[in-house]
Amino acid sequence: MPSARPAPAAILHEIFGYEQFRGPQAAIVEHVAAGGDALVLMPTGGGKSLCYQIPAIARQRAGHGVTVVVSPLIALMHDQVGALHEAGVDAAFLNSTLSGDQANAVEKRMLRGEVTLLYAAPERVTTPRFLAQLDSLHERGKLSLFAIDEAHCVSQWGHDFRPEYRALTVLHERYASVPRIALTATADAITRGDIVERLQLERARLFVSSFDRPNIRYTIVEKKEPVAQLLRFIESEHEGDAGIVYCQTRKRVEEIALTLCSHGIAALPYHAGLDADVRQANQDRFLRDEGVVMAATIAFGMGIDKPDVRFVAHLDMPKNIEGYYQETGRAGRDGLPADAWMAYGLQDVVNQRRMIDESPADEEFKRVMRGKLDALLALAEATDCRRVRLLGYFGEDSQPCGNCDNCLHPPQVWDGTDAARKLLSTIYRVQQQSGISFGAGHVMDIVRGKQTEKVAQFGHERLSTFGIGAEFSETQLRGVLRQLIATGALAVDGQAFNTLQLTEGSRAVLKGDTPVQLRESVSLPAGSRRKGGASKAAPAVAAALTDGGQARFAALKAWRGEVARAHNLPAYVIFHDATLASIAALAPGTLAELQGISGIGEKKLQAYGAEVLRVVSAA
Ligand code: ADP
Ligand code: ZN
Repeated sequence: MPSARPAPAAILHEIFGYEQFRGPQAAIVEHVAAGGDALVLMPTGGGKSLCYQIPAIARQRAGHGVTVVVSPLIALMHDQVGALHEAGVDAAFLNSTLSGDQANAVEKRMLRGEVTLLYAAPERVTTPRFLAQLDSLHERGKLSLFAIDEAHCVSQWGHDFRPEYRALTVLHERYASVPRIALTATADAITRGDIVERLQLERARLFVSSFDRPNIRYTIVEKKEPVAQLLRFIESEHEGDAGIVYCQTRKRVEEIALTLCSHGIAALPYHAGLDADVRQANQDRFLRDEGVVMAATIAFGMGIDKPDVRFVAHLDMPKNIEGYYQETGRAGRDGLPADAWMAYGLQDVVNQRRMIDESPADEEFKRVMRGKLDALLALAEATDCRRVRLLGYFGEDSQPCGNCDNCLHPPQVWDGTDAARKLLSTIYRVQQQSGISFGAGHVMDIVRGKQTEKVAQFGHERLSTFGIGAEFSETQLRGVLRQLIATGALAVDGQAFNTLQLTEGSRAVLKGDTPVQLRESVSLPAGSRRKGGASKAAPAVAAALTDGGQARFAALKAWRGEVARAHNLPAYVIFHDATLASIAALAPGTLAELQGISGIGEKKLQAYGAEVLRVVSAA
């Protein structure tokens, strides 16, 4: 075994078949392979896994032994380890899915220092039994590195707080000389500070990547008939593609899955109320079959590393930008074009505000949550570049992106200040006159001068503001109310039938000091955004291929499907679509030609090279 550390770039090429490191990967790998501690903040899809896998391989080759990877999701360890095996790396996992004998066998190999990467959940890592095994490895100099994945789980500010993560400080206390790398896609300052403090990473070097995911197109539409809007979006732009549709409630998830199925879309539900084996089966199908759409609550997704998810849709608004960014980040990990699409409306604002108000948390916590919600609402209301705002939230300056709805179709903006003042003064007068508050529907009726039963019942046609906004449509007024609530110039009292209440912020709008800018509500004709029709016959990745190339691509995919089934692994673990598309384009006739293609490392060349050449020549 060579004692010199092999250059990380050589490992990248030899094992993973990639030409170059991405962004800060090279610096991270170098630092950690040399024994430094690191905290890595990188967006979903940025390439975090290689940041610890390559140091693990390099350090194992240099005789340092085993890297322990702490990962919260046992359901995914199997595929992660499978992918490493495919690349020829000695990896294993320890979790409750193994039988006693299997676990013993893994432990034996680990204790001999043979395993390069050992995956385990935090609750296992911190058991006395496991720690005793680590002690033994450590005494013999065979405990190489700790990689703590999804490190934001340590923070209560994150969306995936897992108390077991707090116990991981034992690793540092017990094995101070063993380097640690913690990784997360959550980058806000509070969570970052919490990770540093909770995991005692004060001396770790911080690596912050750009959070931009340029291949993702952000679109936020006004919610009118959300299900019909979703169907139009999928049918016109993502026929046959894999995607995720996030909904707030379990009931909604079930409904959406059924509706999509009834429109011929292969959709499945996923939420915490389903039996564990149904959940697992649905997740497996999403990962393994092609073109499955998962309707899900946020229970679905952490650690889903399927690279070819072509869209993430939100039918309900998430709690904050971190959640939104993490969820949308599950689209397009392979770097190919992908969509993040959200339908957003008045009810979302009301619901999210109410959930915070009614939560049992203390005031300080609620204050932070409200601040985070406000930032997301500002993004949803924005009429300028979405990406500039998203990146700005993560502390990055950028220029308008050209790949979001507002850049591609700059919205018509109208001045809603006058409408806002009319709405607010009506709310004020109604409260004065009747001594109680009313909801949005009734207030809009008064402003528009509609003679309803309720108007008559309360004598509201006698108000001086009755009918002062007859020129506005209900859609316009609804938009104004939504923005007033979103910006805090109006509050909704969830304890009292969602009635509207004036706030401190109302005054400035009433006086005309705060302008209210609104997007003209337009609905784009379906399919106007992208060349239609391309997706079904040929996914984006293969669109540029000739007819012969298409035939080779199809044949390669069929072959890959068989191999994946035989190995009980998702297809992308064998080869990514992009790799198959490159092979199809190049039509290599020799192993040497095949070797240069991105995604084909030495082990895969050996294992599959001859087969691939045969499939290519027969197609
Ligand atoms: P993350 O964990 O940050 O979400 P992954 O580690 O799953 O991201 O990587 C995302 C995808 O990018 C994976 O399919 C991976 O194989 C690929 N990838 C990572 N680094 C590189 C690289 N340097 N060159 C090419 N592909 C890469
Ligand atoms: Zn933009």
